[in-house]
Amino acid sequence: MSAPDLLAELALNLGADVVGWAPARVPAGSVAEYAGWLAAGRHAGMSYLERQLPARAEPQTRLEGALSVLVLGLSHAFEPPLRPTDGVRVGQVARYAWTPDYHDQLQPVLTRLEHEAAAMANRAKGYVDHGPVMERLFAAGAFMGWRGKSGMLVSTEYGAFMTLAVVLTDLPLEGVTAPHPDRCGRCTRCVQACPTAAIGPDRAIDARRCVSYLTIEHRGPVPDEFRPGIGDWLFGCDVCSAVCPWTLKAGPLARTLRPLPELAYPDLTQFFGISEREFERRFAGTAFLRPRRKGMARNALTVLGNTRDPQGWPLLLAGRLDPAWEVREAAAWALGQWGELSHLEALLDDPHELVRDRAARLWAGG
Ligand code: SF4
Ligand code: SF4
Repeated sequence: MSAPDLLAELALNLGADVVGWAPARVPAGSVAEYAGWLAAGRHAGMSYLERQLPARAEPQTRLEGALSVLVLGLSHAFEPPLRPTDGVRVGQVARYAWTPDYHDQLQPVLTRLEHEAAAMANRAKGYVDHGPVMERLFAAGAFMGWRGKSGMLVSTEYGAFMTLAVVLTDLPLEGVTAPHPDRCGRCTRCVQACPTAAIGPDRAIDARRCVSYLTIEHRGPVPDEFRPGIGDWLFGCDVCSAVCPWTLKAGPLARTLRPLPELAYPDLTQFFGISEREFERRFAGTAFLRPRRKGMARNALTVLGNTRDPQGWPLLLAGRLDPAWEVREAAAWALGQWGELSHLEALLDDPHELVRDRAARLWAGG
């Protein structure tokens, strides 16, 4: 068996649902398209993406002499676990975060593949989402799917709920196939379903409008115009992937990654009345660390402002007293959504100007 075949087989044995090889080449057109996306500011506050552009454009800066990329796909199309019955469990979490942080789960797999390549006198360097590598482009090049109108990789077999990891190698490829054909056809379901109109006609997402960005990466208060669109999304957003006919056809195929009920349906009371450090301890190894406690508390209040679920009332009151001003600001907004203006009085003298302003405007009825 050839070295690429051996590594691909090992990746499957280590838990990948699907694997493929692509040349370690980023076409000039893709680099220009990505640079245009950055120039238009559609990466929002993720300024590190600008710094990573040269490395993304040229994989050889990550692994000298890189010739090929082994792409691993793992389905996170989970069957929903049973919802715990205690606590305040309101809102939705994007499926990929139902399982302990996939970076941690996949790193040992990539390390093993790197060692295996080294044992065959080849060099390899693995990345899972944290490196400046164009995974979706390589996955399409490896015939694993195509970039759908949602901007996500879509596979006829696995739909759009796919976690990707890549291993750059110096192995030459033989008989490389053409990229996967586009199978979106006339479908526009993802574009129509997006709650904040974040998907552009060029198959690129405007992160400034995307619920996933706003609930995970964005720091500080979410712009007012997007709060209703967040709906009941507590962390991330699955809408464009979930409505895709290829996702629906595939069904729940996750094999290696496993969902945990406490991550799929977190108890919102855990985001209030504890320190950031305690939150980090409690949610170690989960994707919730990215927005941190204050981000999750802010999101919980946005959700409660939208859903007005009576279970959440004590959290609105707790949010007013939160040490983080963005949480108090979200609490003021949510109280306004509930029409509970008398509870805003305590925030009229808030030390943070934006909280005071929000409370004062609502108090004045504007
Ligand atoms: S993740 Fe949600 S908000 Fe973002 S593009 Fe998809 S549907 Fe729109
Ligand atoms: S929902 Fe339709 S348009 Fe969007 S990615 Fe899926 S097939 Fe393509």
